[in-house]
Parts: sequence; structure tokens; C-alpha cells
Amino acid sequence: MTGRVVLVGAGPGDPDLITVRGARALADADAVVFDRLAAPALLDLAPANAERVYVGKEPGRAAMAQDEISSLLVRRALDGDVIVRLKGGDPFVFGRGGEEVLACAEAGVRVEVVPGVTSAFAAPAAIGVPVTHREMARSVAVATASTAHGDRVDLRGVAMATDTLVLLMAAGRLEQTCAALVEAGRDPATPAGIVQWATTGDQRSVVGSLSSLPALARQASIGPPATLVVGDVVSIAETTAGAIGSPNVRAADRGSAVGAATA
Ligand code: SAH
Repeated sequence: MTGRVVLVGAGPGDPDLITVRGARALADADAVVFDRLAAPALLDLAPANAERVYVGKEPGRAAMAQDEISSLLVRRALDGDVIVRLKGGDPFVFGRGGEEVLACAEAGVRVEVVPGVTSAFAAPAAIGVPVTHREMARSVAVATASTAHGDRVDLRGVAMATDTLVLLMAAGRLEQTCAALVEAGRDPATPAGIVQWATTGDQRSVVGSLSSLPALARQASIGPPATLVVGDVVSIAETTAGAIGSPNVRAADRGSAVGAATA
């Protein structure tokens, strides 16, 4: 029996940011099971006759349930196929990859995990923000700002725990999230930035402080998928953004609205 599942991290958005091993796995696939955050161009790396199965959310329709996805992977692998499960970013960072690997293990299906470049670090990098920086940030935490259903997450434990804080699923509850961090002890003047569709042609971002960011993001119509980065390191974007080619970032602490390209 040669069937197996390969969980492949697609990277944060730009199709060039998949790993070499991930690209090779795609080239070997009998079927690719993908969702919304994996770059569509990556599907071209699979053989022309490989099946492409979309399991993401259609507008107005619910996504395929997680247990249905897991049983699809298991069933197809047991049929003898090589199934690539292509997931945005890294499969084990808020990607529910763990559940899929568990399902394979429980069914006795061979499974391989190909790590990916996570948006948690690539999104800050895309606006010139290093998540650690000598003398400025010696620690970074990655957390989610909301549940998959858009519900509140308790951020009190993590708010003050590290110098830099990266919050995924941040667009929907940005105002409440920034307020919760301030309530938990973060200075309202702490630099903060949010990046939507990082590393893609649709990348947009705004930079400000915990107090100014929600209004700036609203003015700029920042929506999902977006990553929030909080901490002194965000101030570095002011200097690095131009060189890094992230023209729609501007230090907004002085109240300037951002969103359009500043050239
Ligand atoms: N496994 C993924 C995360 C999946 S959770 C990873 O490692 O990147 C989905 C969240 O990831 C989004 O809500 C958003 O916060 C973040 N995200 C994914 N792609 C992104 C992108 N191109 N730009 C900014 N944030 C992104």
C-alpha cells in the first residue's frame, strides 16, 4: 500500500515562498486538497491530471467541517493515492494540521509534514519588522486574537509575557484586541501594525500604536486575512519599510491616515 498524506505548508502568500520539499511533494501528488489561504498558483505545480479538491469557505457557504476533511484525506490515502494537503503558512501554526496528522495516525495512514513559512513571522517581515531585535525584543509570542468563529480569546496571559506579540486572525476584532492588551498592562503608545495579504500583490498595512491602530485600520479597510504585530520592534518599520519596498506603510503615530500607497 503506497497511499499517504503529505501536509505541505504553502507559505504566507507569495507562491515563491513554498519550500523546495513542498514543491516536490506537489509534483508527486495524485490529489491536492487546499483551502483559501494557499496561493492558487501553487496548484500549477501538481501534475495536470491530479485532482484538485477545494475545502475552504465559499462566500456565504460554510467550509467543509474539519472531521470531513480529515476523513477525506484518510480515505483517499487508504485507496492508495498520494494526497497533498496544502495549507497556508505552516501547517502546525493555527492550521489545524495537528488534527489531520492525528486522524492519519489513528487510521494507520503514513503522513509526512513539510513545514512552511508562517505568516506569523513573514507578515511582520513584509513591512520591515523583525520580531526580535538586539536590545529591543528578546522574546516573541504568537497567539490568536479570535477563535475560528470570530469569538473573543482571553489575551491576559499573553499580553505582557513577551516583548513582541504577534496575533493572527486579528482583523475582525482589532479594536477589542488592542483594548484588551492595554487593559492587561500594555502601554497604549506601544507601536503596533497590521498587515493584510502579506507577501502577495494585495498586501496592505498600517502602522500606529495600540491606541491609534484600530481607527487607522478601519479607515484603510483592512480585513482578513491580517496579522497584528505589537511591540517596540514595529517602530523599526518607519526606517526599513521604504528599503524593503513596502510603500503603503507609514508611521501613523502622528495621526496620519494610511492605506493608499505613499510611493
Ligand atoms: N497556518 C497559517 C495560519 C493560519 S490561521 C500560517 O502559519 O501562516 C489564518 C491567519 O493567518 C489569518 O487570519 C491571518 O492572521 C494569518 N495570515 C495568513 N496568511 C496571511 C497573509 N498573507 N497576510 C497576513 N496574515 C496572514
